[in-house]
Amino acid sequence: MAPVNDLRTRFDLFGGVEELPPSLRHRPMVRSDSSASSTESPASTSESDEPDTAATTPGLDEVPRPFKFPGEQWAPNVVEPKQDHGDFLWALNEEPHRSRRKAIMKAHPEVTKLMGHEPLTKYVVLFVTLVQFSTAFYLRDTAFFSWKFWLLAYVIGGTANQNTFLAVHEITHNLAFRGVRANRLFAIFANLPIGVPFAMMFKRYHIEHHKFLGEDGIDTDLPSRLELLVLKTALGKAFFCFFQIFFYALRPGIVRPLQPTRWVAINATVQLSFNALVVKTLGWNSMLYFLLSSHMAGSLHPCAAHFASLPPSHLRRERALTALLAQIAEHYLFEGHDQETWSYYGPLNILCYNVGLHQEHHDFPAIPWTRLWKLKALAPEFYDVLPSHPSWPGVTWRFITDSDVGMWSRVKRKSKKPSGDEGGGGEGKMVNAGGLKDE
Ligand SMILES: [Zn+2]
Ligand SMILES: [Zn+2]
Repeated sequence: MAPVNDLRTRFDLFGGVEELPPSLRHRPMVRSDSSASSTESPASTSESDEPDTAATTPGLDEVPRPFKFPGEQWAPNVVEPKQDHGDFLWALNEEPHRSRRKAIMKAHPEVTKLMGHEPLTKYVVLFVTLVQFSTAFYLRDTAFFSWKFWLLAYVIGGTANQNTFLAVHEITHNLAFRGVRANRLFAIFANLPIGVPFAMMFKRYHIEHHKFLGEDGIDTDLPSRLELLVLKTALGKAFFCFFQIFFYALRPGIVRPLQPTRWVAINATVQLSFNALVVKTLGWNSMLYFLLSSHMAGSLHPCAAHFASLPPSHLRRERALTALLAQIAEHYLFEGHDQETWSYYGPLNILCYNVGLHQEHHDFPAIPWTRLWKLKALAPEFYDVLPSHPSWPGVTWRFITDSDVGMWSRVKRKSKKPSGDEGGGGEGKMVNAGGLKDE
């Protein structure tokens, strides 16, 4: 139970560091078929003290371009030639957040003061859970097939359960309480109105999403090749958006099955007991309300677009040199750039624990939702150059209708992870806001 302040001495929690910013490492992109891993011979890029994580950098002998604008080196690159729709964008570089984290900490050492748990979170969770319980109670005698039931499930239930999904995300990073066990227990409680036990399994997969962003077969946020092939058309993409909660629920178990842990079993037991209690005391309508709310939250709900992410249409195909406007919205590629994480800074963040500030969140998973804006304000030279999404509903709309964006619009990397997976490793050695190590 180390105090949060100790984080400053444990930057390894967030992965290693790179000596060179991404701009100096170039960012080779290849179409895969065969070859993401085979074509380039890695050149040592720097005096990095972590040679095993050094980026692959062909053309290193070239003189790095001088940068004229502050933060220019952090802006995304144009993908050339244009990505075809039959494959993902295969990258040879490492994920971008680690090196930006290092650079921000160097430029603004005080950033570590923003890390640590946020006491407010538990009250928000309690309030939203109460709203859901009350609405489920109110609808206990309302017919399932009635406009009132579905309207409340969409407006109140969808919003509340989306908020709860993101509360569990926040708690997954150990940001609601100081202690890891308290966070786990609270996540199991927050899970209740969702109706399906997911919090403890999500925690395991989400840690990998951060640590191995984009790695094929490890980061289960990535669509599989089968999804790419089957969901190519606008209709397919609309189907995906409508049922995305099922994709996110089922994909991890198919792509990367993990053994259930004791905590997963506790999560399931508590949830199923709660469900039984609801059915027994309030009846099936209330139980169906919880489940329908979860579906609405992960369907065509204004807040659901954070799963994805789109580029503003006026972005041009040059490096983004000025402050530009903005889960389809989080990690999908838009506008022909290789930027794999997108932020959204609009008003819907209020309902969603600021998950729109996703660049910031991946850079510093140990900073809670209430302080992500401070991070952005602290390091504007890093964030203002990054394109962001002006609207979440707009992201969903563009994802479906823009023929240049689809399931293929993701950066993938060949996994370097050894089989046998340590999953973050280490028992009980460290509490960590950020949660990137299993405890
Ligand atoms: Zn993410
Ligand atoms: Zn996260």
